[in-house]
Amino acid sequence: MRWENLTTGPGDRPDPAPALFDADSVTTRTFDSPEFRGVTFHEIHARSILNRVPGASRLPFEWTVNPYRGCTHACVYCFARKSHSYLDLDTGLGFDSQIVVKVNAPELLRRQLGSRRWQGEHVAMGTNVDCYQRAEGRYRLMPGILAALRDHANPFSILTKGTLILRDLDLLRQAAEVTRVGVSVSVGFTDPALWRTLEPGTPAPHRRLDVVRALGSHGIGCGVLMAPVVPFLGDRPEQLRETVRAVAEAGATSVTPLVLHLRPGAREWFMAWLAHHHPGLVGRYERLYAEGSYAPKWYQRRITRQVHELAEEFGIGPSGAGTGHRAGPPPGPAARPEPGPTQLTLL
Ligand code: SF4
Repeated sequence: MRWENLTTGPGDRPDPAPALFDADSVTTRTFDSPEFRGVTFHEIHARSILNRVPGASRLPFEWTVNPYRGCTHACVYCFARKSHSYLDLDTGLGFDSQIVVKVNAPELLRRQLGSRRWQGEHVAMGTNVDCYQRAEGRYRLMPGILAALRDHANPFSILTKGTLILRDLDLLRQAAEVTRVGVSVSVGFTDPALWRTLEPGTPAPHRRLDVVRALGSHGIGCGVLMAPVVPFLGDRPEQLRETVRAVAEAGATSVTPLVLHLRPGAREWFMAWLAHHHPGLVGRYERLYAEGSYAPKWYQRRITRQVHELAEEFGIGPSGAGTGHRAGPPPGPAARPEPGPTQLTLL
């Protein structure tokens, strides 16, 4: 296992920057509980926790904090899978079950936020892997991270599929009193059969929408990143309608569609899943993604238009259900209006 180059994000080239931790400092653990069966945790002491997004990025934020690598939510399409290969770990089942935990993330972040060189820029979380994946229930890194951001009145956003975020509601509210806080939940579809096979380790879509509802009722406005919209499996008009309707009912402040993309690392894993579960669609996918990792622009535009029309119909947006939430629409991923190449992992 190679423990260098952890400064890179998914899809980036390995960064020649110094390793974030020493190989000697890795402690490997397993836990004998049903939720962590088959999962191995690699606890490390990171040297840096504020990661700068490469300059060429089209993302609306420059700094990220990622306390974990790998994700037990195990979404088949997750494009952070590629980043596991930088550690010489497997990008398939290995990504789902070999989890790197930066156990010193809270203290390190507090120290880095206090540095004279830090300018208080926006910090995005959940942009690589889910910071509220199941491991967080045991390691509890996010409370310390949120407390550090709150104490430095540092703006931040979180994108998650994890219901565990509600554990930290008080900290989110306290932070929202002193700085700009954006929260987005990712729900690409509500179809239960698709969810069970494509996002097997995640909370069900309706439970994620309950998070949106709960945050809203506590004054934390929450957007929905409708990602991924899955071609031929989750893109029928009635499916889009049902999802947007559910998002609206949950009181989301915004809904931003993002069509599935299949970058190397995720593509192989997804196509194997497709061949197993929907063999009749393999040819159609090969044609739709013939140009590379992204569906054609015409397809992306069509989905965006349909979702925006539905959002208007159901009254999602500043003049709709979300009005009145204190924190407002998130400045992070969910504020992004156009689909296209991003480094989001479609949480
Ligand atoms: S898409 Fe997000 S929630 Fe799913 S496995 Fe990847 S990081 Fe985890």
